[in-house]
Amino acid sequence: MYRIKEIYFTQQGEGANTGKDFVFIRFSGCNLWSGKESNRASAICKFCDTDFYGTDGVNGGVYQADKLIEKVKSLWLSKEQKISVVLTGGEPLLQADQNLIDTLKSNNIFIAIETNGTLLPPQGIDWICMSPKANTDIKLRRGNEIKIVFPQEDIDPLDFSHYDYDYFFIQPMDSKNQDQNINQSVSFCRKHPRWELSLQTHKILGIR
Ligand code: SF4
Repeated sequence: MYRIKEIYFTQQGEGANTGKDFVFIRFSGCNLWSGKESNRASAICKFCDTDFYGTDGVNGGVYQADKLIEKVKSLWLSKEQKISVVLTGGEPLLQADQNLIDTLKSNNIFIAIETNGTLLPPQGIDWICMSPKANTDIKLRRGNEIKIVFPQEDIDPLDFSHYDYDYFFIQPMDSKNQDQNINQSVSFCRKHPRWELSLQTHKILGIR
């Protein structure tokens, strides 16, 4: 059984897959923050902009794998294309196990995941996006894209440059200092061309 906050169809707003159609499956829970505002100050990850607490979002609930796939299929609007999902959260690897990946694969579904990198994934995921957070033990050193929310105290993107990933993204932190964060991100990317700028285009466009 999988505890899911919400499931919805949209276009990926960030990183190398920006603009592509996906059904987002947002898992409930994270190992770096409880999701409750009252605990934010004491969390390992303090800048989270996502509500992943509970199962009360759109299409949220507790699902078995086959029911989850039924829901994904019912939400897929790009009928002529292969179905693609993003497993996100919270931290999806707290719940996304081999059984779920195998069931998605047997339904010919492309599987992307967005993870904080502190847990190792099951086999068979097609696209791994890892977004490291400061003061954590990163175990996932191979994948498709690294996306660093920038700037983060106690995290230097260059410490990740040797990881085995195809894309390296810097994404300005969405906070009250956003203008400053954008300027610092742009200047970092100019100085270190291997790192590209990732923008949260869904926020810019006002879509989800
Ligand atoms: S690791 Fe990701 S989901 Fe968890 S609290 Fe941080 S930003 Fe939010």
